[in-house]
Order: sequence, then C-alpha cells, then structure tokens
Amino acid sequence: MNADSDTAERSSSMRDMRELTLRDMRELTLDEVRQIVVDFGEREFRARQIVQWLYARGVESFDAMLDLPATLRAHLKQNFRIGVPAASVVSRATDGTRKLLIRLADGEEIESVIIPAEGRVTLCMSSQVGCAMACEFCATARMGLHRNLTASEMLGQIFAARSELLPGEEFTNFVFMGMGEPLANYPRLIQTLTIMTAEWGMNISPRRITVSTVGLIPAMERLLAEIPVNLAVSLHATTNELRSRLAPINQRYPLEDLIAACRKLPIKRRNRIMFEYVMLAGVNDSIADARGLLKLLAPLRAKINLIFYNPFDGSNLRTSPRAAVEAFQAILKNGNLTATIRESRGLDIAAACGQLYAEQHRAT
Ligand code: SF4
Repeated sequence: MNADSDTAERSSSMRDMRELTLRDMRELTLDEVRQIVVDFGEREFRARQIVQWLYARGVESFDAMLDLPATLRAHLKQNFRIGVPAASVVSRATDGTRKLLIRLADGEEIESVIIPAEGRVTLCMSSQVGCAMACEFCATARMGLHRNLTASEMLGQIFAARSELLPGEEFTNFVFMGMGEPLANYPRLIQTLTIMTAEWGMNISPRRITVSTVGLIPAMERLLAEIPVNLAVSLHATTNELRSRLAPINQRYPLEDLIAACRKLPIKRRNRIMFEYVMLAGVNDSIADARGLLKLLAPLRAKINLIFYNPFDGSNLRTSPRAAVEAFQAILKNGNLTATIRESRGLDIAAACGQLYAEQHRAT
C-alpha cells in the first residue's frame, strides 16, 4: 500500500468512526424529531416530513429527503446518521425460509428470518446480540449476552429483510422470537414498538406483532399496559424442577407465579395468551406431561404451540418423533385446549435461533 492510499484509508475510517458517534435518526419518535427541528429554527411540520422519509419510505440518506430545505438537510447530516444494516449472509431454504445474518456497525451480528407460510410472510426479529437467559435447548444461549440492540438496530432488520423479499411478497407479521429476550431490553423494545405501530411511523397494527418472552413477569405486565401486542410465553415444562433446568429464569419466576401473572394480564375478551412448548424426546413429551399441561393452563384463556426442536451441534437434546407430538396434541385437544403444531422451517439452513451465527463464527 502506498502513502496516498494509506492516508485515504485512515481518513475514511476516521469518518466512519465519527459517524458512529452520531445519534441514529432512525430511533427517534415524532416528538423527538419535532424538538430537533424546532431547535434548529424550522417549522414543526418538517418533523412529519422527516419521519415519513425515515420510516414509511425507508430512505438511507439525508440527501434523499428532497422536500426539506438544504440547510436542514445539512444540519441533520452534520449531527445525525441513519443506520443502514445489511445482511452479510443470506441462507435460503428449500421451503422458502430465508435466514439473514445482519452485520451491525460495531461488527456484531444478529439473525433475522423471513418465514413465508399459509398466506403470511412473517419476519422473526432479534432483540439482543446473544442472550443471558441460558435456556438449555437454545443455540443463542451458548453465546451469552454480548449487548442489547438499539431501537434502530431492531427496526433496521425490517429494512434489511425487505430487500430479500420476492416480487409480490410483503411482511404480514412480525415476531420478536429471534436472538435475545425482548423484555430484558425493555426501554428500547418499547421505542421500537412505538415506531412500528405509530401512524407517523411504520403504521403496523399491534395485532400483527408478537413479543415472545421466557417469562419476565413484571415486564410482561408493563408491556401489555403500554402497547397491546400479542404475547407468547415460552413454557416448555409443567413442573418447576424441569422448567428450571430448561429455562433457568424459572428459579426467579416459578410456574405458579407465571400462571398467576398471566391470569391478570389485560387480554382482550376474544384473545388468548399463546404458550410455546418445544417438544423434547423423553424430556417433556409424555402423556403425563400433556395432562400436566392441561391442568396448568386450565385457569387461563390460552392456546399452545407445540414446536419441533431444531437440534444443533453440542446439544444433547433430540426432537420428539412426529407420532409423539401428535399424540400430545390429541390429549390437549380432547381437553379443549387449542393446540397447534409448528412445523420445523428451514431445517436445511440451520433455522434454530443462533445456529447460523454459530456456524459462521465456527467457519471464521
Ligand atoms: S430461548 Fe430465547 S430467552 Fe432462552 S436463551 Fe434462547 S434467546 Fe434467550
């Protein structure tokens, strides 16, 4: 490398570092943008123009905000940035599932999954880099927690994934079931959901958004009081002994407290709480487990999703055979509990949360 190219590279990386210290514009609410605009001496309606460009049109630079005065554009450029995450790896499964590994500005990586099924296109989103919850059946748990995602990084997954949609495809549903425990990143999750659901933001109905939690009780109660999204609770066991092994957070929030808290949640009359139950051969898939589940959920308006386990390297757990899953489902249905089976999607691309990350980092 000669001296000129060395200098050019240094100044470009200094520019990149300076960029990173700027606040990301794509995590601001309308009120926050309004304040910025007014402080600059512009009129309030400019704030609506800016959020339209950011969230509805998804532009990636201030230069693209053509109806703003040049002075305001220059001010924004000088003081803010627009996070533009991109997929560093995209794996495409034969069933149409696409898994994206998205590289963040600091080099960390997260996973998002596009799942087309039964007339819907669902985006499965991450909320943290890694996770601290240590669930035994989860590949992400093996990473530990690296850090929380910002609101702009959570939203950025939607923009990055949109570029992977096929002609005619559009996202119909959004689920926070990727890497991380969303409720452990509460303030940023609320900021993200606010922008996703606001009429001035992405204008997505909260009914199309599901937040999955392993059972952080105080945050579950707060979330539904703030934004009426759907809640999915990861259950996976019917006794404290087994649940504490599979999902150690159970030691802090045991089953009886979790069920009591679910009873009190402000669920609309026609809605039900979704419980998730990963089917593990010889661990939680017996007839007695199914009966235990019926008893546990009897006081609730609940439905349950039985999930085929996606095994990953280093895990001793195995998925239950289809016959066992169907027998389990039949017992629940006979007990008048709505029980669906979630087919394993994208098996050929390591679709369990955290697997693509693990594979890439083994490869490098
Ligand atoms: S299952 Fe969810 S909460 Fe549990 S370790 Fe994995 S990402 Fe975290």
